[in-house]
This record gives sequence, C-alpha cells and structure tokens, in this order.
Amino acid sequence: MLKTTSLLSRRFLLSSQDVRQIGTAAEVARQRRSLQGRVAVVTASTDGIGFAMAQRLAVDGAHVVISSRNQKNVDEALAKLKSEGLSVSGMVCHAGVKEDRTRLLEKTAAEFGGFDILISNAAVNPDSGRLMKCTEEVWDKIFDVNVKSSFFLAKEALPHMEKRGKASIMFVSSVGGYLPNCAVDFMGAYALSKTALLGLTKLMAMELGPRGIRVNCICPGLIETRFGDVITGDKRTPKIMRDNCPMQRNGRPEEMAGLASFLASDDSSYITGENIVAAGGIQSSF
Ligand code: NAP
Repeated sequence: MLKTTSLLSRRFLLSSQDVRQIGTAAEVARQRRSLQGRVAVVTASTDGIGFAMAQRLAVDGAHVVISSRNQKNVDEALAKLKSEGLSVSGMVCHAGVKEDRTRLLEKTAAEFGGFDILISNAAVNPDSGRLMKCTEEVWDKIFDVNVKSSFFLAKEALPHMEKRGKASIMFVSSVGGYLPNCAVDFMGAYALSKTALLGLTKLMAMELGPRGIRVNCICPGLIETRFGDVITGDKRTPKIMRDNCPMQRNGRPEEMAGLASFLASDDSSYITGENIVAAGGIQSSF
C-alpha cells in the first residue's frame, strides 16, 4: 500500500491527502464490488449459464448454494467448484417441484441464517416450436417451470432475504422474451414465458423496492450450452445471427456471469426493475 501510495504521488504529483482519498476510494470500490460475506442460491446451476454464474459469485466472495434435478450432476459440479477453492454447497432441487424449492430455501436459511442473493435460472423449452402447434400440456410445463416456479421461489425466499438488508433477486429471461415474434419456428410458447419474466421483474421490483429488495433480470442472447444447442445446432441459425447479431457470434456462459455478480453487488445498489440484455447487440425492444 505504502509503495503504491508513493508511486502515485510521484507519478501524478498528488498531495498526501489526495493519495489518502484515492486509497480510500479504491477500498470503497473494492468493497462495493465484493460479495464477501454474502450467501447466494442459484437454481439450475450444475451446468451452463447457472454454473458459470455460481462459479463467478463464489470467486467474488459469496458462499454459493448450487442445485439441479440430478444428484450426480450436483456432486460433480460441487467437486469442480471445490477443487477451485470456492465456498460452495449444494442439493437436489427440481425448480418445478414446490417441495424441492421449499427444502432448498429452508435448508439454506437454517444453515446460514438467511441469504442475500437469489438467481432463478431454471427453464424448460420442450418442443417449443410454432405457437399454434403448442399443446396445453406443453404450455403448462413451460409456464410452470419458467414463470410460476420463478415467482414462487422468489416470493418464498423473501423472509429469508429481507432481514439481511442487501437482498438481490435475479430472474433469467432471454432476448427471445423481447422477440416472441422472431425466430417463430424455434421459440413459440417458450419466448412468451420469457416475456412474462420481463413483466414480473418490473412488478416485483415495484412492490419490493420499499422493502429494500432489488429485483432484476438477465436476458441472455444465444449462448453455447446444452440448452442452447437446440438453436445453435439448427442450420438456419447462422443466417439469423449474421443478419441480426452485431457481434456475429454466439455467447458463452461466462459472459453472463459478471453481470450476475454485478447485479448481486453493492455496485448495482440503485438498480432495480431492469431487464438487462447480454446478447451481442441483438435488437431488444418491443
Ligand atoms: P443448460 O446449459 O442446459 O443447463 C441446464 C442446467 O439446468 C443444468 O444444471 C440442469 O441440471 C439444470 N436444470 C434443468 N432443468 C431443471 C429444473 N427443472 N430444475 C432445476 N434444474 C434444472 O441451460 P442454459 O442454457 O444454461 O440455460 C439457463 C437459463 O438461461 C434458462 O433459463 C434459459 O432459458 C436461459 N437462456 C439460455 C439461452 C441459451 O442460448 N443457452 C438463451 C437465453 C436464455 P439437471 O439436468 O441435473 O437438472
């Protein structure tokens, strides 16, 4: 620190008071960005975007509770994260099953006295082709997991988060939520479910802002994951990306992770109700 200080004063001819202030400002900035001491719950986090987000939150200092439907996947993801020296734990939670959601939240709260960060990341996209081909069964499955479970997970988490004073809730929508009328062959009811999350974010933020709880939403573009393979693997996709994506490439899970960490941190303390698109510039307005 001393060495940096004298270097700073020599190079920029600063007074010692200036240097002390810069030192303090740097420390404040570091603290605002750090997740040290926070506890995070991330659903669907043994692979893909959820895994990358969980990993990044832990790298930035949080203890992260990961989960997914399959115990083997939870064990493997935990082993990988722990081998990187990260503070993580995990359990099975099918996001569409109420009892699983309750167990995840209550066990985490009991162990850590509550939690600060919740990322509702799970989604299904079964057979989500053209809307007019959607059956009631497929519609119910998509809206159950993607919308209903996201809302009730967040609602049920509130008592465990509110008392900690720094609560940040994130939903994971999609740039497709802004474009339910595009890529109609692929996304149908799935895109509509992601549109619903954009509204959910706005409304929950409005109701929870006075209670000091922030609610935001991350809207990924086309990201290379198992889930994204359905679209990235389709022969029509390269042309769609060439015509619509300024960055001319798919995204990677880790490119969603820094945004999640920022939205969890004090650096975003005045940001709520936002649907933030990370999609290589794909058009995102209604
Ligand atoms: P992914 O790579 O396929 O990861 C799926 C993860 O979710 C795995 O850990 C899986 O583990 C778990 N999972 C699946 N269904 C679950 C359920 N019902 N409950 C709990 N865990 C479940 O998926 P992804 O691409 O990262 O997608 C993550 C989120 O990003 C989704 O909300 C998706 O809609 C959104 N998104 C993705 C893209 C994209 O291009 N990839 C674009 C826009 C938005 P188990 O099999 O063990 O359950």
